[in-house]
Amino acid sequence: MTAATMRAMVLARSPGALALAELPRPQPGPGQVLIRVAACGVCRTDLHVVDGELPEPKLPLVPGHEVVGEVAALGAGVERLAEGDRVGVPWLGYTCGECEHCRAGRENLCERARFTGYTLDGGYAEYLVADARYAFPLADEPDDAHAAPLLCAGLIGYRSLRMAGEARRLGLYGFGAAAHIVAQVARHRGQRVFAFVRPGDEEGEAFARELGAEWAGGSDEPGPEPLDAAILFAPVGALVPAALRAVRPGGVVVCAGIHMSDIPSFPYEILWGERVVRSVANLTRRDGEEFLALAPRVPVETSVRSRPLEEANEALAELRRGDVEGSIVLRVAEPA
Ligand SMILES: [Zn+2]
Ligand SMILES: [Zn+2]
Repeated sequence: MTAATMRAMVLARSPGALALAELPRPQPGPGQVLIRVAACGVCRTDLHVVDGELPEPKLPLVPGHEVVGEVAALGAGVERLAEGDRVGVPWLGYTCGECEHCRAGRENLCERARFTGYTLDGGYAEYLVADARYAFPLADEPDDAHAAPLLCAGLIGYRSLRMAGEARRLGLYGFGAAAHIVAQVARHRGQRVFAFVRPGDEEGEAFARELGAEWAGGSDEPGPEPLDAAILFAPVGALVPAALRAVRPGGVVVCAGIHMSDIPSFPYEILWGERVVRSVANLTRRDGEEFLALAPRVPVETSVRSRPLEEANEALAELRRGDVEGSIVLRVAEPA
């Protein structure tokens, strides 16, 4: 009898391109579940991994951390989930529970954390194993492709929105997968949204207005009025001083990405006035539970373009060029 195999898109070296491979189907160890992947979102972080901008990925690696699928088998001791459950697997795949950060409720900063699709194999494959404690049970709606972007663009976007505080006037820099979700949540919370896109990107401006931005313009413009907070989703360091100039005294600039080009030097006067620059790193399980409960109440409607698993390289190239409205999702299994 031959062992069961699966199709996967594999990164052999970083930087590099993905190659389709036939791999042994993984087996769930104690506390893990085997998940049959239905869809996996393509996140900008995947691009940073493939392009060699993040240190020491697991190699060879199956990327992907916006995974939606069904529990196919349980490892020993798993009681939280059952076979057939619909689940989502996010970026945070494991934390130690013992370090200073874990004990203080900041598991997103865990010193020994492992990350799906970076230091653990992810969802660009027909199956993956996940620690059952970090997989989120999902409701029946929305469908697989539309649920996938909630698992990172949604979760990290939600954490970024929390870090931006009670901002009445919220600026979003870079209107991609995360911003298109955050704009909907912010509007639901009664916040006013101002979208800053690449100068001249009229389609991006129109997309942002459709999703509730009351103003959309180039990121080189100051915006129509001072902001209370800004969230930077574009990985462009030069946007930090631009956003500092756009926020009022006491305002916050949140850098939401895992990687950013160098931040140019800037005059102290634009930070003066108790303005704050901060980053957002990873997520906690609490972020995930809160956001997944909130999303259907908004309701968040994701805009998705899907491609088959084999076209992961093309999907990443589209993201690199920046010509994506909303999210790209890989279809791994055909809908039943
Ligand atoms: Zn820890
Ligand atoms: Zn991501």
